[in-house]
Amino acid sequence: MLLGKQGAGKGTQAARLAEHFGIAHVSTGDMFRTMAAIGTAHGLEAKRYMDEGDLVPDELVIGVVEECLAPGGPLGDGFVLDGFPRNLHQAQELDRVIGDHGLDVAIDLEVPRAIVLDRLAGRRVCENCQRVYHVNMPPSVNWTCDTCGGHVVQRDDDTEEAIDRRLEVYEEQTVPIIDYYRERGLLVQVSGVGEGDDVFERLMKVVDAIPCRTKS
Ligand code: ADP
Ligand code: ZN
Repeated sequence: MLLGKQGAGKGTQAARLAEHFGIAHVSTGDMFRTMAAIGTAHGLEAKRYMDEGDLVPDELVIGVVEECLAPGGPLGDGFVLDGFPRNLHQAQELDRVIGDHGLDVAIDLEVPRAIVLDRLAGRRVCENCQRVYHVNMPPSVNWTCDTCGGHVVQRDDDTEEAIDRRLEVYEEQTVPIIDYYRERGLLVQVSGVGEGDDVFERLMKVVDAIPCRTKS
């Protein structure tokens, strides 16, 4: 599980970890954006909250996650959780869904506020595969994704007002779950400052140090 402020790099690093280990990347934000783009009722409801920078109601989020992580489902090989849980209630629900011993590690990706503000203001994202770019490091051709050829755009919630609101919600609701995982001995704090490759290396060290429960 990756925890951290908006703009800490959770999405980028979760995608890299998932690819490296050949496991799923479970991002509630990506799921809601996809549902909203398709236009499902739940997706459109979620979008009303997302665009304001508020959390989507727990009921809706937990339903989606529970369906995705159901035992015996396709995620039996493991997964990287990104953007869930975001409050204590969701953390407790996660324990219910995957069991108390289901989680290997909760990594808090630490980045100071001034840096995330700059990253979010300049962030551009591929509409199709969600790859993250920055105005200072755009795709090589004309805002066309280097990976999939999709359009690279600014997210609807990367406005100044929504960014302020999301960071406020993070402090109020998500910071308390850092202690929840610390108390369970699952928390590791890693600096998310610097080049993506360096952050990835730090994360790999943490993951490699996890005692492997399923080694053959
Ligand atoms: P960020 O962390 O930059 O806000 P995400 O893509 O993770 O980006 O989430 C975007 C939005 O999706 C959030 O602001 C929120 O409205 C909604 N969302 C995602 N995950 C959750 C969650 N676990 N609980 C409630 N809302 C969520
Ligand atoms: Zn793409």
